[in-house]
Amino acid sequence: MENKEKTEGKKLEEELFNTKKSGWEKATDEDKKLIFKFSDEYIEFLNRSKTEREFVQSAKEVLDKNGYKDLNTVEKVSAGDKVYYINRGKSMYIAVIGKKKLEEGLNLVGAHIDSPRLDLKPNAIYEDTEFAYFNTHYYGGIKKYQWTTIPLSIHGVIVKTNGEKININIGEKEEDPIFTITDLLPHLAMEQMKKTLLDGIDGEDLNLLIGNMPYKDESVSEKVKLNILKILNDKYGIKEADFLSSELELVPAFNAKSLGFDKSMVAGYGQDDKVCAYVALRAILEAKVQDKTAICILADKEEVGSMGNTGMESQVFDNFVAELLNKSGENRPNLLNKVFCNSSMLSADVGVTYDPIYASVSDRTNCAYSSYGISFDKYTGGRGKGGGSDANAEFIGKLRGILEKNNIQYQISELGRVDVGGGGTIAYILANKGVEVIDCGIPVLSMHSPYEVASKFDIYSGFRTYKVFFEEA
Ligand code: MN
Ligand code: MN
Repeated sequence: MENKEKTEGKKLEEELFNTKKSGWEKATDEDKKLIFKFSDEYIEFLNRSKTEREFVQSAKEVLDKNGYKDLNTVEKVSAGDKVYYINRGKSMYIAVIGKKKLEEGLNLVGAHIDSPRLDLKPNAIYEDTEFAYFNTHYYGGIKKYQWTTIPLSIHGVIVKTNGEKININIGEKEEDPIFTITDLLPHLAMEQMKKTLLDGIDGEDLNLLIGNMPYKDESVSEKVKLNILKILNDKYGIKEADFLSSELELVPAFNAKSLGFDKSMVAGYGQDDKVCAYVALRAILEAKVQDKTAICILADKEEVGSMGNTGMESQVFDNFVAELLNKSGENRPNLLNKVFCNSSMLSADVGVTYDPIYASVSDRTNCAYSSYGISFDKYTGGRGKGGGSDANAEFIGKLRGILEKNNIQYQISELGRVDVGGGGTIAYILANKGVEVIDCGIPVLSMHSPYEVASKFDIYSGFRTYKVFFEEA
């Protein structure tokens, strides 16, 4: 009946156009329930996992409860086994062994768990005019002005010369103090406000205010600093020099929450890339892994170029896969190369949501829209795809087949308009080993800011995508 009223052109349009629509339009009440429940669990996890070390710890707890074993404690692996490997407390690989031999290839989903932030300098504490401060050096690409005048908490470790490691987490509990970086009042900021956003706040001026009360002793020169060190010594047994062997990170003290009257979005710090990391973790936990071995990578140091022994450029991941080969009794010379050449991967990193307020940086036909589903970036890089990893059409065709069969909404986009900028992920590192890789993540607004925004529909679409990829790719 309805079809009769449609013109030939209308019918053709429906058949041939790739019509894009918000996923909420088709979502049933049952879908919405699942999406909101999943998002609540994500928000709870994110709020206790603001740094890479905390994320690893939270993930380990979940994995231990679900029958996963530390690979180091296992002699052999075979189909159905669930193992993980933690690299220096900052990155982690999780595997579910499939029925097929590893040499037939792995299904990898790789996210990163480090996020832009401020790190304390090694010589951290100083006093100026009865204020005590911590010196900082920012980590990753931030807009520095966004990090002043917000409540910050301190997370990380201090390692003493005897090897004792002290875990620090101050500013998260209701009764904890918070810390902040001051900015100039507008009344006296005429000169500052003429500067560009790039220069308005100097990197060396990102000093964290940590105290103002002097130690009562006239013979002491820096009384406020001494008072702070006394407090820290009483509580943690540390001295000023112990900051030399510390890794302390400043992150927003406020928590992730549902955003909007409709609660359709999540606002929170560190969603790049902990949203994809959490979703990938949930996907490997819930996937029914059959033939190919599934591996979830939670990498560190992506935001500063993936270097170092916890970054994806290191050999540690290769060693992990080699250990799986050893422990499955499958290994022989050069087999690792073959494993990689037969593997495929979703590089699970956040994308850019089209922001109508900043429309000029996007190509409206090739950007990711909020709530239109998980977003694939065929390629990354900038200015003529420079430095980018470009996924093969054959691989994308296969993935589209899997998603469409499973009725999962997705979109394919790029970061921004040609020549406006660019970016990268860990995709190229695995692609260089011979793995089929495509970037595939949840788009966000305000990326790298202290409060990033993601759509709950897209978060759940990401979960479903990674799960079917583990099961069917
Ligand atoms: Mn990222
Ligand atoms: Mn990033």
